[in-house]
Amino acid sequence: MTRITPQPGIMDIALYEGGQSHLAGVADVLKLSSNENPLGAPPSAVEALTDAARGMHLYPSTDHAALRAAIAEVWGLEPERLICGVGSDEVLQFVTQAYAGPGDEIIYTEHGFSMYPILTSMAGATRICVSETNRVVDVDAILAAVTERTRVVLLANPANPTGTLLGQDELERLADALPPYVILVIDGAYVEFAVGYDGGISLARNRANVLVTRTFSKIYGLGGLRIGWGYGAQGMIDVMTRIRQPFNLSVVQLAAAEAAVRDTDWLETCIALNTEQRARLTGALRQLGLACDDSHANFVLARANTVEDADAAEAALNANGILIRRVAGYGFPEGLRITVGTAEQTGRVIAALTDWRNAS
Ligand SMILES: *Cc1c(COP(=O)(O)O)cnc(C)c1O
Repeated sequence: MTRITPQPGIMDIALYEGGQSHLAGVADVLKLSSNENPLGAPPSAVEALTDAARGMHLYPSTDHAALRAAIAEVWGLEPERLICGVGSDEVLQFVTQAYAGPGDEIIYTEHGFSMYPILTSMAGATRICVSETNRVVDVDAILAAVTERTRVVLLANPANPTGTLLGQDELERLADALPPYVILVIDGAYVEFAVGYDGGISLARNRANVLVTRTFSKIYGLGGLRIGWGYGAQGMIDVMTRIRQPFNLSVVQLAAAEAAVRDTDWLETCIALNTEQRARLTGALRQLGLACDDSHANFVLARANTVEDADAAEAALNANGILIRRVAGYGFPEGLRITVGTAEQTGRVIAALTDWRNAS
């Protein structure tokens, strides 16, 4: 070798693009582009973080025992089967890095989360992208793509950006049909918004090769703080813990997350708001001629008839100081992913789109 050379896969990575957060000339934009909590961070977490900050000259715990105990208590899980990360993105990185490398394959789906191809290449593994059927994950297509090189299947349920949910029966069928050397990762970033769905916990509980991930970034309103967790078989957790940096979570992250997970009133309030406004937004979008599937998350994917129509709808929203997410990179050039906001914010979205339709 004649020069410094990055590991295989690294140069295949296109940098992740987050939701837009600025609009030229608008001071207080309404940011509905990143599925953040419209109510902000829970006051209980802000208070815990502020208190914990006084102890930030001390290193944090390396085992996250207090946070794992709180998560275990609230969700009825075994604390020793939990691992915490810098966002659930880091937990996803633990599993892909620990279990896949050059020559191995990682499967994800057509409209899957844009971090999945990045994580695959970070591990030096080969990207295998399979089709979905009408914007829903297709279990048979995934199974047909499995080879002896497959190591991990990455699936968000509910999915982003479609908001669709693969039913428990289908999820179970997939978990049962995958070979034992393949890990099924069920990314539950939006689980709390899918009322009645357990996020794959029951599947992970009894299987050696199912990992569930969760985050504090969405319903808990702590996206800026970066905390997530995973739940899986002891063997997988032990492996992933070896590549986790001992101090990956700071004292303030740990304190805020623990307070947030114990704040079940907050969770209920946010679920109720989202359920109500999501139904309202979905109904209004359909009436305005923008197609949408029923969403099980905190956003709705609206599909215009043409890309030009979507451009015009986005321009109308931007003109009213509202940012949404275009999702061409996810296979929807005519799509607009709109985060569900408060009643007032949802009203602004509907008003802006109604005016646009009336004018055109
Ligand atoms: C937002 C999101 C995440 C969460 O990422 P964090 O690193 O926990 O902030 C994970 N998966 C999907 C599909 C998401 O949309």
